Amino acid sequence: MTNPTNSPHARELAAILGDATRVLTHPQVVEQLSRDFYWYSPVLRKQLDGKVGDLVVQPLSAAEVQSVLRYCHAHNLPVTARGAGTGNYGQAVPLHGGVVLDLARMDSIDEIRPDGVAVCEPGVRLGTLEIEARKVGWELRCYPSTIIKASVGGFLGGGSGGIGSVAHGNLRDFQTVRALEVVTMEAEPRVVLHEGEAVHDILHAWGTNGIVTRIWLALAPAVEWSQCSVAFDTFDAAFDFSERIAGDPAWTKRLVTPFEWPIPSFFTPVKQYAPEGKALIFFLIAAEQLAALEAAARERGGEVTYSGAYLGLRTRPLLSDYTWNHTTLWAIRADEAYTYLQCAFDPATVRDQMRQLKERFGREILFHMEFWKSGDGRMIPGAIPLVYYTTEERLNEMIAFCRQIGVFVANPHVNNVEGGGRYRADNVQLLAKQRYDPKGLLNPGKMITFKPEEIAR
Ligand code: FAD
Repeated sequence: MTNPTNSPHARELAAILGDATRVLTHPQVVEQLSRDFYWYSPVLRKQLDGKVGDLVVQPLSAAEVQSVLRYCHAHNLPVTARGAGTGNYGQAVPLHGGVVLDLARMDSIDEIRPDGVAVCEPGVRLGTLEIEARKVGWELRCYPSTIIKASVGGFLGGGSGGIGSVAHGNLRDFQTVRALEVVTMEAEPRVVLHEGEAVHDILHAWGTNGIVTRIWLALAPAVEWSQCSVAFDTFDAAFDFSERIAGDPAWTKRLVTPFEWPIPSFFTPVKQYAPEGKALIFFLIAAEQLAALEAAARERGGEVTYSGAYLGLRTRPLLSDYTWNHTTLWAIRADEAYTYLQCAFDPATVRDQMRQLKERFGREILFHMEFWKSGDGRMIPGAIPLVYYTTEERLNEMIAFCRQIGVFVANPHVNNVEGGGRYRADNVQLLAKQRYDPKGLLNPGKMITFKPEEIAR
């Protein structure tokens, strides 16, 4: 498409919606809504800078999504779904122009059922859902540190887990996603319900195999939380204590995040909780267990540097603002050379794996661990270590070394579903794409195992 502002496609789509204000063509707006946080990766920055859609369409209902996809299918227009654009891998960046389908205005919560399942549209912000759920005694099982901005649909399309995963696993575990309604990209787009195991066809497929238009999400009973931070002389001691708390089901926790020094020095707004040279742990712990946790930490040589009530997402300090992939953001603010990896260490050999990485890469890798309970009940020492970036070769050397010593890496420096490391080995996402998007128009280029011509053959 050329000259998008006068594009016949924009006019036709506006006529289909019956509302020209929901078809955006201003180049600056289109550019802004074509970006996400891919610039976290120096590798992706080179690949994705300058990639933009041609226009943005903002549907209000599944029926409108069907109408838009019917038009795009007929005219071979690529369609890239967008939630809030907080993804890190260029997931929502259109590689081949076309329509950016901005789902932010499909943002109603239908109900929060008495059995703890929220039913909502994809554009609902996770923070809004958390607040509404807590009003009726429930809360999100897990959420990314971008909770305030990120959408439910985007979390399902591109996220994996976060705060809460230490107790409830990732998004894909423990039937957290109960069902999804998906609109297909066909001559006559269908609305299809995926329930139970079939949700995995669509989860974490980056919007390449259907547009999610309604979600049934299981919640957890709400807990009254407190936050605290504990400093230890060494990272080893901080890690030992974190692992003990994370792995013991007697503790009701939502966050257990140890950081190696100097990472805490990057957290400028809460620097006063970070004694010079020490490792730090941030906790979200049940209020009734706060005193016991602090006593246990002191017994093992920890110094409690902050403790207080958790008063919701808008009250500071909010320690979760420094955890998960927000840690990388604070590091980049301190020094633009920082980037990151996403790793899962082996619970049995994690200390040896960390030692080997330190021996080989020294201060080029800084440990920041995030625990999550895996589907089989094991507590996984996940990590989003900071990496001091010099060259792509050196980064690849580090990734290869991790894999060589048994550390799983979901590579955040690639721009396709398969390379990102959260692709299903049973290919269900690819099979769904073959069924639902045979022309390959949904977020083209992001599912690289899909070959439209093979389908045609
Ligand atoms: P977007 O970025 O808009 O979209 C993500 C993907 O989903 C895209 O491929 C898009 O095409 C697709 N998509 C969006 N809506 C739909 C739909 N309705 N149907 C089909 N596909 C759709 N992620 C985590 O998992 N855990 C973290 O703790 C975490 N921390 C982060 C911290 C920072 C500072 C940043 C920048 C990112 C972090 N992320 C994290 C990544 C990201 O914030 C989350 O995955 C978030 O849930 C994405 O939501 P979004 O609405 O911004 O999605």
